[in-house]
Amino acid sequence: MSIKPLKPLEAPVETPTIAETIAQTSVQPTSTDQLLALIATMQQQLVLSQQQAAESNAKLAEAILATTKPRETLKTAKEIAQEANQKMFDDQAKELRRRQKLNIEADQNNCEHIAGCNPLSEERDVRGRSSILWHKTDAQVVVGICTNCQRFFRPDDPADARGNNYEFYRRKPSINRMSQSGTRQFLDPLQAMKDGTLRDS
Ligand SMILES: [Zn+2]
Repeated sequence: MSIKPLKPLEAPVETPTIAETIAQTSVQPTSTDQLLALIATMQQQLVLSQQQAAESNAKLAEAILATTKPRETLKTAKEIAQEANQKMFDDQAKELRRRQKLNIEADQNNCEHIAGCNPLSEERDVRGRSSILWHKTDAQVVVGICTNCQRFFRPDDPADARGNNYEFYRRKPSINRMSQSGTRQFLDPLQAMKDGTLRDS
C-alpha cells in the first residue's frame, strides 16, 4: 500500500490591479502585446468600477424614495384607550336610540288615540272623542298628531295595527279644535301637498 503524495495546492489566480499592471509594465513596455494587455486590463477595471457605481446609485435612489413614503403615525396607549371608550359610548347611544324607537312604536300601536286613554290620565272621554290634534297646512293637507302617543297622521298612511286608516281617524270627532295655517298658492299644488307630509327617514 503506497501513500500518494499530496497534490500541492494551486495558488489562486488573481487579476492584477491597475497599479500592479502599471508597475509591471510601466518600466519598459517592450512590445505592442504588452501595451494591448495593459489597455485591456484598464478597460476591465473601468467597466467593473462603473458597474459598482451603478449598483450603489440604484440603492441610494431606493433609499431616497423610501423616505418620501408617508409614514403611519403611531398611536399612544392613551389615544387607543380613548378611541375604545368613544366607540363604547357611541354603541351604547345607538342601542339606546334603537330601544327608544321600539318603545315609541309599541306605545303608538297600543294607543287607541282616544282622549284620556293614556294610563296617566284620570278618565277616558265618555263620548269617545279622539285625542288627535288636526292641522290644515298651507298646502291644504290635513295632518294630525295624537296628544297621547305623538303618532303622526297623514292622508297616505297605511292601515295601522288595529286595521284603521287615516279616514277612520279623520271621521272621528276630536276633543281638540283643528288648527289651520294661512293659504299659499303653489305652482304645483299636488307636489306641495306631497312635500307637506314628508315622512321621517
Ligand atoms: Zn295615540
